[in-house]
Amino acid sequence: MSDALLCVKQLTVSYGGIHAVKGIDFQVAEGERVTLIGANGAGKTSSLRAVTGLQRYGGDIRFAGRSIRGVPPYQLLRQGLVMVPEGRGIFSRMTVRENLLMGAYLRRDGEGIKRDLAEIYSIFPRLQERLAQPAGLLSGGEQQMLAIGRALLSRPRLLILDEPSMGLAPIVVAAIFAVINRIGRQGVTLLLVEQNARLALQSTDRAYVLDSGSVSHSGESAGMLDDAKIRQAYLGE
Ligand code: ATP
Repeated sequence: MSDALLCVKQLTVSYGGIHAVKGIDFQVAEGERVTLIGANGAGKTSSLRAVTGLQRYGGDIRFAGRSIRGVPPYQLLRQGLVMVPEGRGIFSRMTVRENLLMGAYLRRDGEGIKRDLAEIYSIFPRLQERLAQPAGLLSGGEQQMLAIGRALLSRPRLLILDEPSMGLAPIVVAAIFAVINRIGRQGVTLLLVEQNARLALQSTDRAYVLDSGSVSHSGESAGMLDDAKIRQAYLGE
């Protein structure tokens, strides 16, 4: 899969003497939904930060065939590499509408933006009801939806979601994953980092399990859900 949309080889990330990521390989093909799962501190966020140009790394990261080394994050964003960060990155004093439109700031196709906004309102009716409110007044789940909506409005080639379930009540998490499944079915290429391994495996095609900075397992998500060892180690059974 060397022609994958995202191709990561021998990735290492270190903080001083701490080796957080120890030479991992993973790929995401166009249209595919891939997850990185693993315990706290396994190296998931460090890997994502490297892929999005936010973190110095060793090894090779290619997006759409080209190395991302030295390419600043805003250039990667222009190329369609879009991340919804852990903590969401919402501008709390701006309105919901203003936050959403930030996702479209590189676009000049007014009609296309209107169509995409209508689609986003159909996915997230709660956002449409609250367009004029400051985003800081939204609940945690609504802010997560806003962050995903904003990312979708930038027409990502690869949408990266970092811990979308973080800090949310189970019922809200279920709603967020329903949306993630819908987006995936529409053909958006997804890379999902998630501590809730069960949900992550249920929502993706393939998975990599990170353990202390290395890939301990990889394969089809459905197969991993059935794997007794994975179930015991990562699904709490
Ligand atoms: P989490 O779910 O907690 O975000 P993770 O799998 O994303 O976990 P990372 O955040 O990538 O893991 O962290 C991997 C390791 O690197 C951990 O041991 C962590 O303590 C360490 N680490 C992460 N960021 C830094 C930093 N800025 N300075 C020093 N060590 C760090």
